[in-house]
Amino acid sequence: MSASGKPAKGGKKPRPPRQDMPEQAPEERVKNFLEVPYGYTPELAALEASRCLQCKKPACVAGCPVAVDIPGFIARIVEGDYLGAARVIKSTNSLPAVCGRVCPQEEQCETACVLSKKQQPVAIGRLERFVADYARRLAEEKAQKDVHERWRMYEQLASLDYSA
Ligand code: SF4
Repeated sequence: MSASGKPAKGGKKPRPPRQDMPEQAPEERVKNFLEVPYGYTPELAALEASRCLQCKKPACVAGCPVAVDIPGFIARIVEGDYLGAARVIKSTNSLPAVCGRVCPQEEQCETACVLSKKQQPVAIGRLERFVADYARRLAEEKAQKDVHERWRMYEQLASLDYSA
């Protein structure tokens, strides 16, 4: 169904529009030095990833200076396999969180995306940032858990009676 409620031509499901990233309200952002955009939620990332056509000859990859397998990592996002998506990106790019933020995607991969001929291209940079941030948060949580576990073991060892 289209936005007007009528079925899309050919019975095809209409493609969702390009998804914006939620961001801090102006009255909040003037009070801090945090990043303005929050990044995609998993729901927004899934919606944006669903726009990708999974092209057999992906022009976006040719537009990427480090030839990231863009349809490959986007397909993992659609499956909900965010760590798998991070692995795909990291096989050719070790700085996805940085590239997702500062790469000029509008002049590289996104301008080459076939969707840009008729509508807005897939937001490849925003998806890359989402995947990188997810993997980093997971690694931080694991590191924190490891510290707590080691501290617990240390406390147990310290409480033992070594006098016997
Ligand atoms: S060119 Fe665009 S639609 Fe095609 S695989 Fe790349 S991101 Fe997806």
